[in-house]
Amino acid sequence: MSGTFVGMPAFPTAARAALADTQLRHNLAHATGTIRDKRARVVAEVAEWEDLRTAGAAIKDRTLHDLASYLLQLEASLTAAGATVHWARDAAEANAVVAAVAKAHGVDEVVKVKSMATQEIGLNEALAEVGIAAWETDLAELIVQLGDDLPSHILVPAIHRNRAEIRQIFRERMAGAGRPAPDDLTDDPAELAGAARLHLREKFLRARVAVSGANFAVAETGTLVVVESEGNGRMCLTLPEVLVSVVGIEKVVPTWQDLDVFLRLLPRSSTGERMNPYTSTWTGVTPGDGPQEVHVVLLDNGRTRALADRVGRQALRCIRCSACLNVCPVYERVGGHAYGSVYPGPIGAILNPLLHGVGGDTQTDSLPYASTLCGACYEVCPVKIDIPSVLVDLRAQVVDAHRDRRAPHAEAVAMRAAGWIFGDARRLARAERVSGRIRRWWARLARLPGPGRRWTTARDLPTPPRESFRAWWSRTHR
Ligand code: SF4
Repeated sequence: MSGTFVGMPAFPTAARAALADTQLRHNLAHATGTIRDKRARVVAEVAEWEDLRTAGAAIKDRTLHDLASYLLQLEASLTAAGATVHWARDAAEANAVVAAVAKAHGVDEVVKVKSMATQEIGLNEALAEVGIAAWETDLAELIVQLGDDLPSHILVPAIHRNRAEIRQIFRERMAGAGRPAPDDLTDDPAELAGAARLHLREKFLRARVAVSGANFAVAETGTLVVVESEGNGRMCLTLPEVLVSVVGIEKVVPTWQDLDVFLRLLPRSSTGERMNPYTSTWTGVTPGDGPQEVHVVLLDNGRTRALADRVGRQALRCIRCSACLNVCPVYERVGGHAYGSVYPGPIGAILNPLLHGVGGDTQTDSLPYASTLCGACYEVCPVKIDIPSVLVDLRAQVVDAHRDRRAPHAEAVAMRAAGWIFGDARRLARAERVSGRIRRWWARLARLPGPGRRWTTARDLPTPPRESFRAWWSRTHR
């Protein structure tokens, strides 16, 4: 019971379909506007916010610069605390570890804390293939799972759904997954949350194995950290006997002092709260308290590829707050599904190509163009990721990856012609003279069917002057 992004079309096609959905646009505008305003209010309360952002970026850069040694330190700390550490190069290896742990305990279901890493590797689908049901316990993830839908936001995966739609999903689908929704369920938020609470409670009490991600992993002590708003994560992290945490290798922070900076940046940037309602930390196994068997899967899955990208490696600073999504004019109009990934919005437009590499498929190659380059994402990012610069660099990489095509794009032909003209002063002077003579047909030329018209639909094509500067200069300064 969950959709998959596999086979999604390139961004322009998917975006066109999303733009035609007025209900979706209304839901998105309302939800992103509310979170955006909340964030702006609480960020304005912190006088040293810019210093915090700089500190967050510096800590991440320092850690990424020496990632190998911090990861080894984390592994040693985790092992000393009684956890078992696994290294996974890709999604298949990570999924196999989780499935093997679940199988070893003879279970056919696991409960899950909301986790981007497990969505990225398609864990639910992989577990389903070996007969294990993975139950999402975050309210928004539950809505997406029951609705056989796809997440459309990092923090609020069901942001594209309104209350009436959620009520419908609960009434139609909850019974098929466990405790049914009450017959008289209305679309009152408290009633919807109550129905989800009762539905999930029996899963928490029954589950013997839980799966989580981690927002941070502290290398000096081997402590994993999950921040959340609902308490479902705390239930998963404390009730089951076995816990498997899938953690991206970029989540490591050296010390608790470093963690402090991120625990101040994250809640204000994500939900617009001063503090996270639930911040859970655990360090390996504590006898008689919580899971007595803890596994940690340290996941690469393209992160070392991203780390090797000189400009793009800053994307690994991301703490998944989703502030960049909420301010992005493109995301607000098309929603998350159009990006064809669990990572939508501005961060998705750079992270997906960095993790997968460009030149391999049209969907990934289309993402760096899914932006107006307005820079709003950079201004709100709590770890100062310069998303516009990474987008521009990735666009260049996409162009480079296709340079050897047999039939070059019209844009490439035009650029090559421009390069030839600009490469020689006499050729440029001649082109200026010609463009001055045909200026009266200029507007008509731009309207001819073909790439020219597509280009000028959303851009101005300035009419060339009757006389170029070069011609005026040589006429008046003979
Ligand atoms: S790129 Fe920055 S603003 Fe966007 S999700 Fe990551 S940390 Fe948040």
